[in-house]
Amino acid sequence: MKFFDVLKDELVEFFFPPNVSCYICDDDLDKKCKTHICDKCKSELPFIQNPCKKCGKGVELGSSCQSCISRKYYFDRAVAVVDFDGIAKFSIYKLKMHSHRYMADLMGYYMYCAFINANLSADTIVCVPMHKNKQRKRGYNQARDLLKSCNKYLKLEDLSKFIVQNELSPAQKDLNARDRFAVAKDKYKLIGATKFRDRTIVIIDDVFTTGATTSAIAQILKYAGAKKVYVLTFASVPYDVEKQSAFDEFFAY
Ligand SMILES: [Zn+2]
Ligand SMILES: [Zn+2]
Repeated sequence: MKFFDVLKDELVEFFFPPNVSCYICDDDLDKKCKTHICDKCKSELPFIQNPCKKCGKGVELGSSCQSCISRKYYFDRAVAVVDFDGIAKFSIYKLKMHSHRYMADLMGYYMYCAFINANLSADTIVCVPMHKNKQRKRGYNQARDLLKSCNKYLKLEDLSKFIVQNELSPAQKDLNARDRFAVAKDKYKLIGATKFRDRTIVIIDDVFTTGATTSAIAQILKYAGAKKVYVLTFASVPYDVEKQSAFDEFFAY
């Protein structure tokens, strides 16, 4: 490299220093760190240790999944990275409520790793759509940001635009689990349903709560002839937390 090129690079770095702080706690990171997370935050992420092979929620070793006992899911399998707790909750909060959209880079990478570690593969990717009024208000759909981030590695065909949300239905946050499933059933529709025939599809969202939303989308995809439907989220709400009536409505759809 010529002297002036080196000098130019150094000047660029001086005036436009690369972002080398942890995306979660803002502490300084080693310049070479490309994962955007410090060791302390990584050690505090509540990674799901023993996931249910169907819904992905963490279950006690040797016991059956209470969530799957009480519900019928239309997807083949759901995978999540972390329990919706502690700094994982804070990360979602940043991504969703504070427009810290760069968080998707960090979370999408972990989602990709979780999908590969679960020995799954797909040919198509979609994200949970957001109603256009809500998207206008927030300015972006965080599920779409997560899709873009993990699809940098997965490299699947993105057919998200063929799934749309019907006119505004009641906000899910005010509903109990049974009602959530009832409302979600008619909430989404496909345009160009033939595109999904014989496809293996992964649905992307930020948080898996009861699974009502993703199961409803999986149902219409299966009806359109999809071969397999998987769900991939960053976080999953533990069943006992989800049952608490005071569960963070703030974050739920
Ligand atoms: Zn940190
Ligand atoms: Zn389960």
